[in-house]
Amino acid sequence: KNSNGNYLVTLIPGDGIGPEISRSVKEIFAAAKTPIEWEEVDVTPVIKDGKTAIPDEAIASVRKSTVALKGPLATPIGKGHVSLNLTLRRTFNLYANVRPCRSVEGYKTPYENVDTVLIRENTEGEYSGIEHEVVDGVVQSIKLITREASERVARYAFTYAEAVGRDRVTAVHKANIMKLADGLFLDVCKQVSKDFPNIKFNDVLLDRACLHITADPSVYSDTVMVMPNLYGDILSDMSAGLIGGLGLTPSGNIGRDASIFEAVHGTAPDIAGQDKANPTALLLSSIMMLKHMRLTEHAANIEQAVFKTLAEGKALTGDLGGRASNTEYTKAVIANLKF
Ligand code: NAD
Repeated sequence: KNSNGNYLVTLIPGDGIGPEISRSVKEIFAAAKTPIEWEEVDVTPVIKDGKTAIPDEAIASVRKSTVALKGPLATPIGKGHVSLNLTLRRTFNLYANVRPCRSVEGYKTPYENVDTVLIRENTEGEYSGIEHEVVDGVVQSIKLITREASERVARYAFTYAEAVGRDRVTAVHKANIMKLADGLFLDVCKQVSKDFPNIKFNDVLLDRACLHITADPSVYSDTVMVMPNLYGDILSDMSAGLIGGLGLTPSGNIGRDASIFEAVHGTAPDIAGQDKANPTALLLSSIMMLKHMRLTEHAANIEQAVFKTLAEGKALTGDLGGRASNTEYTKAVIANLKF
């Protein structure tokens, strides 16, 4: 909180449609008198010691504010480029990726009752990057599971369940096959559950979870699912599919040193600069951010305005089958604010 009573938040507008959807969030936050002061930073990569890196000012801003809202970043293709998203994840120890998926009234999909929350371990598992060739034609890829990383993500899952009023945590795993690796993850989750007597705990095999969630997603409406990296990567996109794709899906990256909230979609180069982008996913991410900062009333006000605008269906953007521009949609959301 700074001297005028506002909370400092770093804003990374991003590439492609990033600046347009970021502007929409800024306008809605200003209209809702949200006590946020944005510090806008550019993360266009600089070359440092021959490698691409995030500018120091951007890193310093996130370190200072400890909370950031981020638009999509174009991943440069080619040798010597590291993904900026990966760099941010490493720099700030973003260990848990939180992906809620809730059906949106006014946007028809084959499922109507989706309300899932998935938390993915974000630092190890199959993504530890340890691979080698044993002999020609034989490679080994190491799936790394540690007690430390499993415990901090499990602990966050229980804390999150308490904070959002869900009464159960479900560990998703394949401990029947990966007895040591997933076995450790599951054991740690069980251990941590003892510290949260008000939250129930159960576990489910990943394949079962896929079967259940596509047969009847409401099975997971009261729980927070927590799982190792790769399973979370796949199951979170599957859940997004149930509510109609990535355009409506927010996410939060919770870290030891900072937390970064972002839409799940990319830079949409095909519609960039045309005032056609749907800012909903970034808006929902910004609402997650407000809840994370315990600005609950402001989050609720903007959230109801977004869902009301979508349900009314009069100002939908092209991706949702409407004809409204980003500007028109933004105005409609502002008109639906309660205060
Ligand atoms: P994309 O999500 O940018 O686009 C896929 C399709 O969805 C396009 O037709 C696009 O117009 C549409 N779309 C996406 N977001 C939309 C929105 N908010 N409103 C309306 N339509 C929307 O995926 P892509 O084309 O595979 O990736 C483009 C670039 O984005 C690549 O450089 C990729 O590396 C990057 N990317 C970044 C992130 C991130 O920063 N988190 C995530 C994914 C992709």
